[in-house]
Amino acid sequence: MRFSQTFIPTTKESPKDAILKSHQFLIRGGFIHQIGSGIYDFLPLGKRVLDKITQIIKEEMQAAGSCEIMMGFVVPAELWRASGRYEKYGKELLRFADRKDNEFILGPTYEESVTAIVKTYVKSYKQLPLNLYQLHIKFRDELRPRFGLMRTREFVMKDAYSFHADTQDLQREFTHMEATYRRIFKRLGLDFRVVEADSGAIGGSGSKEFVVLAACGEDTIVICEQCEYAANIEAAKRTKRTEPPHPPKAAFAKFHTPSIGTIERLKDFFKIDGFFTIKAVVRKAIFDPKTHKAPELVYFFLRGDDDLEMTKALNALNQLGAEALELQDASTEEIANSGLFAGFIGPYALKNITQAHYIIFDTDLYEARDLICGANERDYHFVGVDLSLFESLTYADIAQVRVGDSCPCCQGKLVYQKGIEVGHIFKLNQRYSAPLGAHFLDSSGKSLPFEMGCYGIGVSRLLPAILEQKSDMKGCVWTKASAPFDIDIIISHAQDTHQNTFASELYASLHSAGVAVLLDDRDLRFGVKMTDFELIGPRFALIVGKSLEEGRVELVNRESLEREFLGLEGLKEAILLRLERD
Ligand code: ATP
Ligand code: MG
Repeated sequence: MRFSQTFIPTTKESPKDAILKSHQFLIRGGFIHQIGSGIYDFLPLGKRVLDKITQIIKEEMQAAGSCEIMMGFVVPAELWRASGRYEKYGKELLRFADRKDNEFILGPTYEESVTAIVKTYVKSYKQLPLNLYQLHIKFRDELRPRFGLMRTREFVMKDAYSFHADTQDLQREFTHMEATYRRIFKRLGLDFRVVEADSGAIGGSGSKEFVVLAACGEDTIVICEQCEYAANIEAAKRTKRTEPPHPPKAAFAKFHTPSIGTIERLKDFFKIDGFFTIKAVVRKAIFDPKTHKAPELVYFFLRGDDDLEMTKALNALNQLGAEALELQDASTEEIANSGLFAGFIGPYALKNITQAHYIIFDTDLYEARDLICGANERDYHFVGVDLSLFESLTYADIAQVRVGDSCPCCQGKLVYQKGIEVGHIFKLNQRYSAPLGAHFLDSSGKSLPFEMGCYGIGVSRLLPAILEQKSDMKGCVWTKASAPFDIDIIISHAQDTHQNTFASELYASLHSAGVAVLLDDRDLRFGVKMTDFELIGPRFALIVGKSLEEGRVELVNRESLEREFLGLEGLKEAILLRLERD
């Protein structure tokens, strides 16, 4: 491709809101154009990278036995009503009506649509298993679209859905898809981790995320320094904590603690480790409008030096049948209205005071003793608290794993890493097939809902993910598999006939050898062309300049920025060798 003929609108300006380097470089390099909040157009360079990534995904999905389809972007609302998600999905779901007042949504994910297809055509276990995928646009009306392609409202996803006669076969496919995903991200040249994850709004029994390691990542993952354990912080587990020395042994008593309303002050006051204190976290649960339940306060208790993990907390609440959609902050006023004093909340008589339906203790507090907690009275705490004396408390894993906690598999030290979620695989079981009435006849003639799995890759998010992991200060550094061009032949002086002819011939010859070549034939200063090379990131630049007279050209490796002179004899082979090697 000749630079003079293609459309690569590079610029020095980056958008004011572009904090991340990937966002800056994708705009400045002319890869994408923002047309609305969270909505981007792909320009030729962006489309090239997208196509390269897409091609790898297609090859691996097809090799794994999945069949490509494409479902309608606009989905009838009734399908989403049948699954119960029309109301539940919240504001991220864009709902609208046509001229006849028929209701629709723009697909944010396609479990309902694909189940409707399979329900129509698959009637017998003999037609199973089946795996269908699409590479298509999704729309989610994200509250805060940001970071360029990282979190958009419209984005390209590869989504696959599998159908099985039983859970064993679903498990086999889940493992198979995990292996397929590992191959895809390895081929893309990424440093990534596969982590245990929460299943989120899609629901289901088990899920794993594929996270590209990058300092800017929005996701925090917890990994073990010793073994393979890795989990998203929303799902991370730990071994029960070991008790620090000097527990505050005391008989049960009420203690005057004037204005000691924080864990820090409580620790200082009693000269104890936060481990021995109980922290109350009050949250307001918001329910599905269908249930007509008013928001209500929910009480969570943790060790004082632990923090509530909001996703775990919501899951724990819904395990109790609450069907809450989210947990919001409770205001001091709301806490006071429930008869409590912020800073002095404890488990004693809590149910009687507040009429609370849901009080949940972190599992690390299971039958714990020698504790200090709020007395539900201003300026008072209880000491010598023994939770084993309470009857039928509800325990669940609701605490956020901390750096230094012990691994649930090997007791090794757990640490945090930042990453970008680029893939997510789920076991859905009968979550969609049952409500949508998608049944098949098993080998004994019994009618059963399909066992389902679903498997997503954030295709457009992969562009910024690659750049966040690989780029330098000058601009884009792509991986071998994702670079928009293998080599950029830069004609130093476009007016120089010798340079021009030489470069054009080399361009044609590399092009016919299957190399993705960009020929920078623009009548611009050499420095400008070099800056553009560094900004857009072809894997190599070949500078055809003054040294051509001496029978040499210069090759620059974009990633290492190393330069070397190559002689004209056997030049094509020397270039091909380096393209293959690096
Ligand atoms: P996130 O936690 O980042 O919001 P998610 O868990 O809601 O993502 P999934 O439903 O698992 O996303 O979708 C599959 C993949 O699609 C994700 O792993 C991610 O790479 C990508 N993706 C999800 N939301 C967006 C978005 N708003 N913009 C770009 N890519 C996205
Ligand atoms: Mg996800």
